[in-house]
Amino acid sequence: MALAIVAAAVGGLLVGSFLNVLVSRVPKRESPFGGRSKCPSCGATIRARDNIPLISWLLLRGRCRDCGASISARYPLVEAGTAVLYGVTVAVHYDDTTLLVLGLILVTFLIPIAAIDLELQLIPNRLTLPAAIIAVVVGTAIDPDGEIERLIAGAAAALFLGLPALINPRGMGMGDAKLAGVMGLYLGAPVGPALLIGLATGVVVGIGVVASQGMSAGRRTRIPFGPFLAFGAVVAMLVGQGMVDWYVDTF
Ligand SMILES: [Zn+2]
Repeated sequence: MALAIVAAAVGGLLVGSFLNVLVSRVPKRESPFGGRSKCPSCGATIRARDNIPLISWLLLRGRCRDCGASISARYPLVEAGTAVLYGVTVAVHYDDTTLLVLGLILVTFLIPIAAIDLELQLIPNRLTLPAAIIAVVVGTAIDPDGEIERLIAGAAAALFLGLPALINPRGMGMGDAKLAGVMGLYLGAPVGPALLIGLATGVVVGIGVVASQGMSAGRRTRIPFGPFLAFGAVVAMLVGQGMVDWYVDTF
């Protein structure tokens, strides 16, 4: 199993490198497969040796080799984050193919969605729609018996955040509701604890922002909700079934 975890982490570094391309290009509606990456400041094409996940950013100390402009810490963070989450997912779900496969795909979508929401306060349909389709196709293929539960969980989660979004679009956005639906399609019943954890951490951080900036400035700060939902989804993906079982046994 140790070998599988290391392989997953290395694979996560490489996938994370591609997820950075998604984060940069999806909001601009550019193809993630078209052409080499360029420095956003000077337009120089990134050399292959400067495109090694994590290592290049560290060696270049976060600066472009050509113009010296600083390169966002988002690049190494996305790569390291993908590597860690891939490794942990394999470690936790090593013996359960369904949870393993759906968990890895979910993480692969959550990371760029959270990063784009953090940077731009939007959750692109160009990520949530393919995420939903792949969830249903892969879920039906590897675990047909569980698909009904995941479809119900997806619909319920989308509705749970979608109704407040319709009533008060200034708070929760429809992008958040679509993300919740996607989470349900991958998680099944554990989407319940995922939403609770996401909402709770979002509220705690929101209170922290208001406390540190004062009421009027804090209220104007738009806090993207996607990263918190993604955090809840990751926790639920790893330990959510145990939480649901405990709840069902206890009550
Ligand atoms: Zn440059």
